[in-house]
Amino acid sequence: MEDATATKVVIVGAGPVGLTLACDLARRGVGVRIIDRAEQFQVGTRARGVRGRTQEVFEDLGVLDELRKHAEAPGTSRFYDEDGNVVRDVVMYDAPPVPGAPYPGSLMAGQQFTEAVLRERLASHGVAVELGGEFTGFRQDGDGVTADVRFAGRREEIRARYLVGCDGAGSTVRKQAGISFLGETWERQRMLFGNLTVDGLDDSVAHLWAAGPGGMLSLAPMPKSGTWFFTAPLPSEGGGEPVSVEAFAGIFAERVGLPGVSFRDPVYLSVYQVNIRMVDRYRSGRVLLAGDAAHVHPPAGGQGMNTGVQDAYNLGWKLARVLRGAPESLLDTYEEERMPVARHVLDTTVARGRHWAAAGAAQVADRMRGTFEGKDPFSDVSGLSLHYRGSSLARQLDDGIGVRAGDRAPDAHGTDTGTGERVRLFDLFRGTHFTLLLFGSRPAPVAGEDVRVHRIAGDEAFERYGVKDGGLVLVRPDGYIALAGGAWDDRSVADYLAPLAVE
Ligand SMILES: Cc1cc2nc3c(=O)[nH]c(=O)nc-3n(C[C@H](O)[C@H](O)[C@H](O)COP(=O)(O)OP(=O)(O)OC[C@H]3O[C@@H](n4cnc5c(N)ncnc54)[C@H](O)[C@@H]3O)c2cc1C
Repeated sequence: MEDATATKVVIVGAGPVGLTLACDLARRGVGVRIIDRAEQFQVGTRARGVRGRTQEVFEDLGVLDELRKHAEAPGTSRFYDEDGNVVRDVVMYDAPPVPGAPYPGSLMAGQQFTEAVLRERLASHGVAVELGGEFTGFRQDGDGVTADVRFAGRREEIRARYLVGCDGAGSTVRKQAGISFLGETWERQRMLFGNLTVDGLDDSVAHLWAAGPGGMLSLAPMPKSGTWFFTAPLPSEGGGEPVSVEAFAGIFAERVGLPGVSFRDPVYLSVYQVNIRMVDRYRSGRVLLAGDAAHVHPPAGGQGMNTGVQDAYNLGWKLARVLRGAPESLLDTYEEERMPVARHVLDTTVARGRHWAAAGAAQVADRMRGTFEGKDPFSDVSGLSLHYRGSSLARQLDDGIGVRAGDRAPDAHGTDTGTGERVRLFDLFRGTHFTLLLFGSRPAPVAGEDVRVHRIAGDEAFERYGVKDGGLVLVRPDGYIALAGGAWDDRSVADYLAPLAVE
């Protein structure tokens, strides 16, 4: 008999992606270890925009309310032209209401806070991140995988059923698995970024010098962390220059030259090099990749962390189900569903970056605001409209209902006719189960034990799901529509779930 507490999954990398996956697995009772080679947790901010779909994932994982406490209030961004004149003041990251989406805009919370609330959640499931553990290699066989991890003064072989590399763009897991990272490096596009203290600059707005040589120079106050976030283009020729406050001050002086503004006390500083790369497969046997380890792209639209969190959320329930005895082929649907998303994100961030860069300051302001208001010509950065239509896990029974299998299941209020209570559909979805929504009076089909069945009445729910007479919608544990139709028979749900059956 297998030990229920044994490590089933080892996760390499405790960034936002590894932590999301660890939380999702741990809440399903999967024995998980998560290691990171860093000696201490990140204190600085990289990603700030937690987009709409990611907020929904975080609500399901139980961290959204906590994260909100660390979010900056929506503020004004001030755009300047090349001569330093103000051309626009815009409020960004806010978005008009979207039916069925409780969080259409972005939550502006520093990545260090996102990671901290996920770690807290993970701790509530009894799992702690193991710092100072560097993954160096693995071997796998028919039963499992053994990860070699070097801790200070000792080496450990961690045995698990699966290994997931969430170890960022330079992923050792990816390299050791022999998975290619195909694409290009834009050698001439580099930027200095980090967090520091700024004196002498109006801290009631974010400042963006959007026109000028090399791209955007920005400084945004972050009252919740008591520092400023900055980005500055580095000269296209060069490399190896010192990463320092003085280097940033020099670029600022040359580019902006505002007297009386000074910089000090960096929280962290780094150089970002634009790479557009992705893997040609997400899995090698018992080893899988997620997040930056699988795809990197330009920052325009802030998609990196958000895309990686969605990878983890797509993978979590599948991995847990396979560990409970479902066929391994379920794991193939992870790549099937997420690889096209990565490709789409690479294409659209490149196009968006060029679109922004080709404009004057006033146009950049309008285009950036448009992007975050859902009017981007390339894609929807909120992630709300991403879908898995055409996936082998999406089955449309007929056209008798408006929603499509593979789409994100929208939120709505309605009445659960079984209890007579007013319900919010996202509350019904929350957790680790499948949810079967029935609309109308047709008899319920046979459903499995991990399917929660609710018969829903009410105009809003009918409208959001495009119900005419009646309808059936089976919602996956990650909130996407598995099966949909206006009519069904007794076996419709059981037949769908049979190939995913657990032991
Ligand atoms: C300036 C900037 C702004 C950004 N803004 C946004 C934004 O607004 N929105 C957005 O969505 N994204 C944004 N991003 C991108 C985002 O930061 C990344 O996509 C995100 O951090 C990826 O998360 P991850 O967990 O995949 O990898 P990472 O955050 O890179 O985490 C990987 C972890 O793995 C660990 N690790 C690496 N190798 C090993 C090893 N061999 N053994 C053990 N541990 C290891 C590392 O220590 C690290 O903790 C931004 C990035 C930058 C640079």
